[in-house]
Amino acid sequence: MKFADLSLAPELLSAIDRLGYDQPSPIQEQAIPVVLAGKDIMAAAQTGTGKTAAFTLPVLDYLNRTPKAKGKGNQARVLVLTPTRELAAQVADNVEAYGSDLKIKSVVVFGGVKINPQMQRLRGGADVLIATPGRLLDLHQQNAIQFDQLEVLVLDEADRMLDMGFIHDIKRLVKLMPKRRQTLLFSATFSNEIRALAKSFLYKPEEVSVTPPNSTVDVIEQRLIAVEKQQKTQLLAHLITTNDWFQVLVFCRTRHGANRLAKKFAARGIDAAAIHGDKSQNQRTRALADFKAGKVRALIATDIAARGIDIDQLPHVVNFDLPQVAEDYVHRIGRTGRAGASGEALSLVSHDEFPQLQAIEKLLKKEIPRIEVDGFEPLNNLPASRPAGSGKPAGQKQGRNSKAKKKPATGKNRNHSEAKRGSRNNRKRRSGPRNGNQKRTKSD
Ligand code: AMP
Repeated sequence: MKFADLSLAPELLSAIDRLGYDQPSPIQEQAIPVVLAGKDIMAAAQTGTGKTAAFTLPVLDYLNRTPKAKGKGNQARVLVLTPTRELAAQVADNVEAYGSDLKIKSVVVFGGVKINPQMQRLRGGADVLIATPGRLLDLHQQNAIQFDQLEVLVLDEADRMLDMGFIHDIKRLVKLMPKRRQTLLFSATFSNEIRALAKSFLYKPEEVSVTPPNSTVDVIEQRLIAVEKQQKTQLLAHLITTNDWFQVLVFCRTRHGANRLAKKFAARGIDAAAIHGDKSQNQRTRALADFKAGKVRALIATDIAARGIDIDQLPHVVNFDLPQVAEDYVHRIGRTGRAGASGEALSLVSHDEFPQLQAIEKLLKKEIPRIEVDGFEPLNNLPASRPAGSGKPAGQKQGRNSKAKKKPATGKNRNHSEAKRGSRNNRKRRSGPRNGNQKRTKSD
């Protein structure tokens, strides 16, 4: 299918053309006709599948062909709610890019920055308002924005909004909106909670879904290294320096852990910055900009802060800790290999993280290949994963003191030389992300 087959406005097709998209992604192919038909939709799609364009393009098309209702000035016609500031900023970038040939006023608002400039931008309302729920409620309470003429509501990454406890804010906001509206719900998963939410907010929604865990993740080379917990910092520093990784996104489970790792790296001469919810908006913006510009080599993030980070050609993602929720693994590694680019995702897994590993491999329906690094073999064995479908453990993985042999050295060497090659290639391509994301604020 081509974009031209989707009956979108020529102004949108020209913008898509400029962005160099060849054809709609599967979620776009499925969702765009439903949204153009004015129906409510429940779409299961992960980040990295092109989901933002899947709702932005038909919504812009709608705004373009439907005149604005007459009425009070401070109204929003379309509202996109997102869980994090990063995602809000990224959606806003997309709206601007796709709508550059249309007369559309878009405004993005989120917490952590001054409210007054946002109130000023909202004067006269907005065609598309992209917002995080808490700040939006504040703005409404201060009479900066009204929703009684809202036409389309988009809930982006609804599962994450629920995880982050935004349900009450969302319910309060939805009460302010007209019952007759179009509602689009995008979520990585359809949990019972999401279905309950859909039942109360959506009218006869059409369900569409793509299987992004595989389509996105297949282009990403995934590997894991079994290692003692205490050796993880040393191992990662070793990998970064010996493989000459210039840009690596590292995930830690906690804010504290992220700070600690950034300090340890700094002490070892590896430029690193932490990005998480305890950092001010300015700190987060600077850390991300420095990382994108290549001034910071390792960006150490928590799951929430990293949501929505979109960096072209991000070559390496490392799970310093495995996430507690298996789906987060897919979100994390989706930071690399975006829109078809290849990338590498490496997990450092200690013995105590085996249950999380099992849950992740069950979700992926495959085992993550293991590699070993000389001098970092674990003392405590990380059990072998269950082969798909067997239901039985495949036997124990061997530790340092065991007689069994490690993987052949060629596998190991291949890994290192590939990593080197990858980093050099990527360095060449590094200069400047495609869509000017740096100027945007990105944090949770
Ligand atoms: P998203 O899932 O919305 O975060 O999009 C992931 C990335 O895919 C973004 O960098 C988009 O610019 C890009 N993208 C979206 N749609 C397409 C498409 N049809 N072809 C190529 N790239 C796309």
